Amino acid sequence: RAKSAGGNRYELADAEADARAITRHGLTTALPAALDRGEFFIEYQPLVHLGDGSVHGAEALVRWLHPQHGVLGPDRFIPLAEHTGLIVPLGRWVLEQSVRQAREWQERHSGAGPLRINVNLSPCQLTHPGLVSDTVDILERVGLEPDSLCLEVTESALIGADDDLLKPLRRLAEMGVDIALDDFGTGYSNLANLRRLPVSILKLDRSFTQGMQQFPADPVDLKIVEGIVSLAHSLDLAVTVEGVETGAQAEQLRLLGCDTAQGWYYARPGPPDRLHDLALIDATG
Ligand code: C2E
Ligand code: MG
Ligand code: MG
Ligand code: MG
Repeated sequence: RAKSAGGNRYELADAEADARAITRHGLTTALPAALDRGEFFIEYQPLVHLGDGSVHGAEALVRWLHPQHGVLGPDRFIPLAEHTGLIVPLGRWVLEQSVRQAREWQERHSGAGPLRINVNLSPCQLTHPGLVSDTVDILERVGLEPDSLCLEVTESALIGADDDLLKPLRRLAEMGVDIALDDFGTGYSNLANLRRLPVSILKLDRSFTQGMQQFPADPVDLKIVEGIVSLAHSLDLAVTVEGVETGAQAEQLRLLGCDTAQGWYYARPGPPDRLHDLALIDATG
């Protein structure tokens, strides 16, 4: 234990670290039962077309309603679930719930273009042998078209990926499932590498969106985003931007040619009926 003149401070820091470790441990051991007890739930955040602001679909974001700690965000428990392997059944649960939800939206909005659903995949799910069969099984049972589903994989999960890792994603892409490269721009991947990956969408990381806060935006940020968008489009990839918080950001990203956007400016993640309401506004004008 560290001892010094500021002894009290060290004790406090130790106590906090201990509390965190206990919570981590407690959360980790509580995870499997939490799935059985139905303590997880999903919020949906709309994705909109930058051109006209209409709703394109939504991203599914998992939360844990912990009986003692209240609502926990994914950053608190996804790493623990990855560590213990629970991410595989949890991820499958998220996928099935989300696919069912998308199907329900589509049934309620037969007129408008089909609403799409984005689901995050963790690296452990990519290497799990059941990924393709589970996904196909869920889509068939629920009756959702593969091209209504987008699976988001982080850029860092695919850096240096060999063909074995890419094979299941390629199979899904051939079926019509979109694969998006999430948090793009944070992983230092080789841009030329993009051609090798079975992705059809780049999700530009929030850090780029932050550079668009002022109007006009930082000229260097503008150049970078402009370059990424033109490269993406020349490779036939669509560009989604995340973390749009202001109208100025939305406008500049639209002018730069980004295709779809997501962020608090449009809507925070929320219950499934909120997306229904937004899509209804679209449909009725
Ligand atoms: P992500 O996939 O990059 O998701 C976007 C995150 O940005 C979400 O955080 C969302 O709530 C937040 N966000 C959206 N709009 C704004 C905005 O305008 N401003 C700011 N500051 N933030 C915004 P969240 O829900 O905490 O999720 C964090 C990460 O957890 C996600 O990042 C994703 O990587 C992971 N995650 C969420 N659900 C799942 C899941 O079901 N499975 C797996 N494997 N990972 C998940
Ligand atoms: Mg995501
Ligand atoms: Mg993201
Ligand atoms: Mg992100």
